[in-house]
Amino acid sequence: MRAAFYQGARTFTTGTVATPTPAPGQALLRVKRVGICGTDLHIFQGHLDHRVPKGGIIGHEIFGEVTEAPAGSGFNPGDRVVVEPLSFCQQCRACRMGASYLCYSLKVFGVDLPGGMQETWAVDAARLLKVPDSLDDDQATLIEPLAVATHDVRRAAVKRDDTVLVFGGGPIGTLIALVSRHRGARVVVVEVNRHRLEMLKGLGLETVGPDRDPVKFANEWTGGTGVDVAFEVTGHPAAVRAMTDVVRVWGTLSIVAIHAEPVPVHLYQMFARELVMHGARLYAREDWEEAIRLAAGGVVPLAPLVSRKIPLEALQQGMEQALGGGPVMKVLVDLTT
Ligand SMILES: [Zn+2]
Ligand SMILES: [Zn+2]
Repeated sequence: MRAAFYQGARTFTTGTVATPTPAPGQALLRVKRVGICGTDLHIFQGHLDHRVPKGGIIGHEIFGEVTEAPAGSGFNPGDRVVVEPLSFCQQCRACRMGASYLCYSLKVFGVDLPGGMQETWAVDAARLLKVPDSLDDDQATLIEPLAVATHDVRRAAVKRDDTVLVFGGGPIGTLIALVSRHRGARVVVVEVNRHRLEMLKGLGLETVGPDRDPVKFANEWTGGTGVDVAFEVTGHPAAVRAMTDVVRVWGTLSIVAIHAEPVPVHLYQMFARELVMHGARLYAREDWEEAIRLAAGGVVPLAPLVSRKIPLEALQQGMEQALGGGPVMKVLVDLTT
């Protein structure tokens, strides 16, 4: 069967590998789609070489079809499924606290362990979730990033009539905005990329573009008090600098972006307004279940986020194009072509 292999910075190759045999408890999947996200772009650039081995198989946003399932697993051949791409110990403090997605020895499929960029994949049946028929294959592939968004919005406790400012209108920022809107919040997305601004407007979201100061905007919008919740989804120091100035007294700051380097935070505002800042990473099982409900109910539109589909052989090229910062939201690898 075909698979794509990471061969070190800026190099993917496609080749063949023996079809896996499922271990006890594992199901066999025919992988149909794999989404490419920011994490994959970091892998492509060599930033995660301490986690991704040479010859490793990436891909953690996976949709496929069950071809073989262990008896009593609740899954059957033909089931359409997504994969919660996490491996955790179930014994450490985090796991015992109910935060297994933050397990002290967490391993992520497609990063630390082989992922979905292979035609057939043996994966623990316990990590599968069924996809309703109302979602097509492309939409189903976006359930993983949507589960990130439902997790982030749940952690920030966004509620009806809240004012929410999202810094960054990429796929995750956009999905956070859509989930927050579904909860009845009033949402504005801060974004600099013109193409993304168009896409956000197409989804009926209000935006603040590069020609407006987000701090000034937030204060005008809220009569000088500040927004209830701000999400930092850019990974950019300028957004971190601004975020403490846009939130109201006792308001919430949620750090979703990956900041690999320390960046200055305006702690005086944290102190003066008694802000609450938290991190939000990955997802719990209930976030997946909510994501599937919201997607299937059509309340969070996923199809408009798919910019392009590429065959497995074009992974290298697709990564280069995505890094080029062109008019791209989400690129999916189609393993059926
Ligand atoms: Zn991802
Ligand atoms: Zn653990």
